[in-house]
Amino acid sequence: MNDPVSPKNYPYEAPVSQELFDRAAAVTPGGVNSPVRAFRAVGGTPRFMVSGTGAYLTDADGREYVDLVCSWGPMILGHAHPEVLAAVRSAVDRGTSFGTPGEGEVALAEAMVARVEPLDQVRLVSSGTEATMSAIRLARGFTGRAKVVKFAGCYHGHVDALLVAAGSGVATFGLPDTPGVTGAQAGDTIVLPYNDVEAVRQAFSAHPGEIACVITEASPGNMGVVPPRDGFNAALKQLSTENGALYVSDEVMTGFRVDRAGWYGIDGVRPDLMTFGKVMGGGFPAAAFGGRGDVMALLAPAGPVYQAGTLSGNPIATAAGLAQLRLLDEAAYATVDAVSAEIRGLVAEALTKEGVAHRVQTAGNMFSVFFTDHEVRDFEDAKRQEAFRFTAFFHAMLARGVYLPPSAFESWFVSTAHDERAVARIAAALPAAARAAAEAQV
Ligand code: PLP
Repeated sequence: MNDPVSPKNYPYEAPVSQELFDRAAAVTPGGVNSPVRAFRAVGGTPRFMVSGTGAYLTDADGREYVDLVCSWGPMILGHAHPEVLAAVRSAVDRGTSFGTPGEGEVALAEAMVARVEPLDQVRLVSSGTEATMSAIRLARGFTGRAKVVKFAGCYHGHVDALLVAAGSGVATFGLPDTPGVTGAQAGDTIVLPYNDVEAVRQAFSAHPGEIACVITEASPGNMGVVPPRDGFNAALKQLSTENGALYVSDEVMTGFRVDRAGWYGIDGVRPDLMTFGKVMGGGFPAAAFGGRGDVMALLAPAGPVYQAGTLSGNPIATAAGLAQLRLLDEAAYATVDAVSAEIRGLVAEALTKEGVAHRVQTAGNMFSVFFTDHEVRDFEDAKRQEAFRFTAFFHAMLARGVYLPPSAFESWFVSTAHDERAVARIAAALPAAARAAAEAQV
């Protein structure tokens, strides 16, 4: 059997990246600061990038790639957008962090509240993980209850209580759970199959008065893209409300990406609390949680639920995020939607031509390709795909200058900068990649 992880199966075409990876591995566990970057699911040398412009990344060996990861979502305007860079430069010139309130954070919060109707108030933090962790604490503080419902395959960052049956890197490595998360930390987490309303109903009847909140990715992208079935989010909201729990919609990935109001702008189901990250930080560490005024009023210093951060509302991050949000008008979303549809069409065409079973699933302009002919409705379906075909496909695309997420369990991301030249490069790479997928052996 081929070991897809063994570097022997892939020629090293990236000697400088390999040298950097070797140096990194000596001083950083696994050579990376976030697991999926290590290419373990696909094998080969992770590319160390040195610059990005528009739709392109350039690695340390001087090779250019069309980027279909976009920093896992944030770079919706492409890399190094001139207006975002100008905002950052102007902010940097005024100093990098004050540890006091500043106008930039007010302006970013105002922009978010103006775009997303259920947000009465937001609190800025530095990562999506912090946002979901804080939202859960607040939901528990507000309801006085302990239990949290989450869905298998949904990833909400590496919060202890939520790192149970999680997607993203946890799915990539097939980890059932994570050592270091104790039974006490995970014991109040109820994990249910995604898209299964009946399971949620049963959980509420099995635990009356105990569930603080139901947290879900607004439309999951961390087990690959698995959108909610019609009415699923509405049912979550209704069951939560009927049972005195909060409905928490994690829009870290979808927020300001799939619509100017995120997934809420598409399905209109009103969450009690929401979490954000990625796009709102413009490529810097900024994230947020927010929602109902009466719930947010419990946060310190207005209320007793403690939450804080040295770099929360950082002036550079808020300047970048605000510049990005200002540029994201209806025309920008129309551009991203159109390029996403074009690339999806090309991928499906190439795979069909080679007789490769596949499903391209979408959530607005987010999409992913499952190597299966079945609809993927939950994490179990996602795991049944022929991921070994993705490995072959991934490397064939990489060799032809297209950088895909290095895992079959991740969303692909595009930007307004993906122009005709970028799409043409993808189109040119696809026939060989589809052939490689067709010929792949377990
Ligand atoms: N929630 C969702 C839906 C995510 O996709 C992610 C990250 O990918 C997170 C939370 C965690 O965000 P961060 O990586 O900024 O901690």
